[in-house]
Amino acid sequence: MKWFKSKTLYSRAKRYIPGGVNSPVRAFRSVGGYPIFIKNASGSRVYDIDGNEYIDYVLSWGPMILGHSYPKVVNALKRAVEKGTSYGAPTELEIELARIIISAFPSIKMVRMVNSGTEATMSAIRVARAYTGRDKIIKFEGCYHGHSDGLLVKAGSGATTFGVPDSPGVPRDYARNTINLPFNNIKALRKTLNRVGRDVACVIIEPVVGNMGCILPKDGFLQELRAVTKKYGIIFIFDEVMTGFRVAYGGAQELYGINPDMTCLGKIIGGGLPVGAYGGRKDIMMQISPEGPVYQAGTLSGNPLAMTAGIETLKTLSKSGIYEKLEKRAEQLEDGINEAAKRAGVKIYFSRVGSMFCTYFTDREVWDYNSAKMSDTKRFSKFFRSMLSKGINLAPSQFEAGFLSTAHTFSDIENTIKAVRESFRTL
Ligand SMILES: *Cc1c(COP(=O)(O)O)cnc(C)c1O
Repeated sequence: MKWFKSKTLYSRAKRYIPGGVNSPVRAFRSVGGYPIFIKNASGSRVYDIDGNEYIDYVLSWGPMILGHSYPKVVNALKRAVEKGTSYGAPTELEIELARIIISAFPSIKMVRMVNSGTEATMSAIRVARAYTGRDKIIKFEGCYHGHSDGLLVKAGSGATTFGVPDSPGVPRDYARNTINLPFNNIKALRKTLNRVGRDVACVIIEPVVGNMGCILPKDGFLQELRAVTKKYGIIFIFDEVMTGFRVAYGGAQELYGINPDMTCLGKIIGGGLPVGAYGGRKDIMMQISPEGPVYQAGTLSGNPLAMTAGIETLKTLSKSGIYEKLEKRAEQLEDGINEAAKRAGVKIYFSRVGSMFCTYFTDREVWDYNSAKMSDTKRFSKFFRSMLSKGINLAPSQFEAGFLSTAHTFSDIENTIKAVRESFRTL
């Protein structure tokens, strides 16, 4: 496989854009080499500028659950674009997407649209602070909630990949109000709440962590969190930007039977266009301007194109059998990878919830940030490069989740497993 054009474009991009990319992990720094520049994508495939074809498990980092260029979404967008691309005034489309979200998530009574997951979590936290009159927030190590100041403390995703969990430029005064606790550790949380429980506005969590690979909540962990936050009058926020409409139609809260006070969404609800949303209990959401005093706004929020892509995507996902199909394909992939590892004698820990997964190169179980960090990232890089050269596009970091779409076929998965087998043999 040749990547001449990508290489040339990358050196050009670096002249104009910091690191040549508009989001750090895209640059392939942790796996070496240079990024592939994409020309187009369709179904389970992406095609790069050099004419190479890949089975895609990045899926724009999660949103493309129906596969790329899903015809219904594309056609709806074509019709929508003729009507104007932004008005800065309300439309019926916004009501429709809000209605669909609310009917999928019983804990969400009202919802506000924004333009990214970062905005959603940042705004939800502002509302939680206003509602409780408290400043401190609790998050968990390795959970990524976007790049707003107070949340960039021991964050996952690119922050973990690059080993700079605390970004310079975040005022110490902000970071002071962010308490970081180990994921899956209820004791640590209890101890902290004993001390400062009445000063904490919210606990925010990725219920399934997708930004340090894919880490599942231990049995009872989320339930205990729900109970203990209630006890201290703390707003419990589920960041379902990645898991919403991914691990189940109603997200991780449907899967684990939790009723959070607030929920953040993004990725899939935009169907590949820039969207985020935050919602929750009515008494909390009524704090938001112009109904209440908490200010939050957006020139392009509720954008008609983004709403259209979201509506078409969620409507398709609501049809029966979609998540069962994803589960079946994901199981096929899981079994194939585990078997390949066993045959090749490569130690891995494969974790998965629905169509979201990670292959950790480690001989122990992964339950939190520290155990995830024990993974052999050099080995991952070698694996990644081998898979890429065989036409399989994985996320270029050990600490990112992989995704499946409904466009991935039985033979896509078989071909992927074949590439995994060959790659494992060379490790
Ligand atoms: C992707 C992601 C975000 C950030 O969303 P952006 O749209 O990239 O700003 C926040 N939280 C979680 C859990 C995410 O996966």
